[in-house]
Amino acid sequence: LDSDGFTNDSKMVIDFIADYYKNIENYPVQSQVKPGIIPGLTHWQSPNFFAYFQANASTAGFVGEMLCTGLNVIGFNWISSPAATELESIVMDWIGKMLKLPSTFLFSGNGGGVLHGSTCEAIVCTLVAARDRTLRNIGAENIAKLVVYASGQTHSTLLKGVKLVGIPSSNFRCLSTSFSSEFSLSPQSLEDAIENDIKAGYVPLFLCATVGTTACGAVDPVMDLGKIARKYNLWFHIDAAYAGSACICPEFRHYLDGIELADSLSMNPHKWLLTNMECCCLWVKQPRLLIESLSSNPEYLKNNASESNAVVDYKDWQIALSRRFRALKLWVVIRRHGMANLMFHIRSHVNLAKRFESLVAKDSRFEVVVPRRFSLVCFRLKHNDASKASELNRKLLAAVNESGRAFMTHSVVGGLFIIRCAVGSTLIEERHVDDLWKLIQEKAADLVEETGA
Ligand code: PLP
Repeated sequence: LDSDGFTNDSKMVIDFIADYYKNIENYPVQSQVKPGIIPGLTHWQSPNFFAYFQANASTAGFVGEMLCTGLNVIGFNWISSPAATELESIVMDWIGKMLKLPSTFLFSGNGGGVLHGSTCEAIVCTLVAARDRTLRNIGAENIAKLVVYASGQTHSTLLKGVKLVGIPSSNFRCLSTSFSSEFSLSPQSLEDAIENDIKAGYVPLFLCATVGTTACGAVDPVMDLGKIARKYNLWFHIDAAYAGSACICPEFRHYLDGIELADSLSMNPHKWLLTNMECCCLWVKQPRLLIESLSSNPEYLKNNASESNAVVDYKDWQIALSRRFRALKLWVVIRRHGMANLMFHIRSHVNLAKRFESLVAKDSRFEVVVPRRFSLVCFRLKHNDASKASELNRKLLAAVNESGRAFMTHSVVGGLFIIRCAVGSTLIEERHVDDLWKLIQEKAADLVEETGA
């Protein structure tokens, strides 16, 4: 790595990326798949990207990522790069305070936070910690009795995690939700399921609540579920991958009320907090439970600092040994923007989502299907024959995406096919929302004419 070559090559890459952003609106948003790199990309950073959930990029995120890659330190234990560990602990307490987490989740209150690459990894680690805590009491031979609870809205990662930690997938209770509760998990149905399982000889282990589900942005009632989790001694995890970022704003923080009853919380700054991929925050109240399950102590890693038990060795809080200096990226983002600008960022997306929602509401051919809570609007085109509505909306979504002018995705809630408009690109402005709406109206008019809907 010679420094002249590094300077020239990285300038070239920066010019390429800057140019890419300059022209990003000219590319068809969803990849039209032809040979070559740019045509083969789906442009996640396009302001016309409304699919899945956003993956925010920002200058601060880029710079932080460059520093992380440039320094390329691997802070698996404290001694392998003390600053990487120290900064991560500081940044996790900062974000914990931004979210007004109880001090029991912070290092300053004997809890603590760690950066993972993804929610999937974070959930596997909490499942393992919960599993081992219970198996220590009931014996490892009883692993097939452990039961995990969540709503049907829960991200598919939970079931994957259940399988990975050796709990039979048939012990995953996927509790149904409906329009009447706006797709939130009913505490009563949870308690009924737990009681049934106990009667049948199972051992309730883990409850995952979601704040901002992927399919439609639903929110589970953290406080009421937490009380049940405490009553039955379940590990209570809150997955706030997408909407956790919004909870830094006072007007959204109430969705985390009851968090003091949880054992762990995860959220992804790589979705909505201006931090380039990858970055998932996980807080736990009892780090020792993660450590008991995940620690390793080979001779070649032994050192005085670890043996003093006075330092954090993050290798024992995650699956892999090696780890990136992600905290640097998050630190740059927080220092560069500060709390006020990060809140402004969230609110501007929420306001644009409200704008889109009111455009939908004004057109009697359409309906907003699930109440909007954050920046995700779930809507559909009505059909005078309800049984044909799903097919019509499938066609509408395909027509919008095939235009290359915007990209949205779908989900099915309560048996209805709905179109998801996820507002959250860093570059988005009002005109992009207005253009999207015009495009949808245009394609809908063509379809209605074609199908006589
Ligand atoms: N949980 C929720 C609610 C999500 O929306 C997502 C992704 O969209 C995930 C988990 C998975 O996150 P990751 O890709 O970080 O594993």
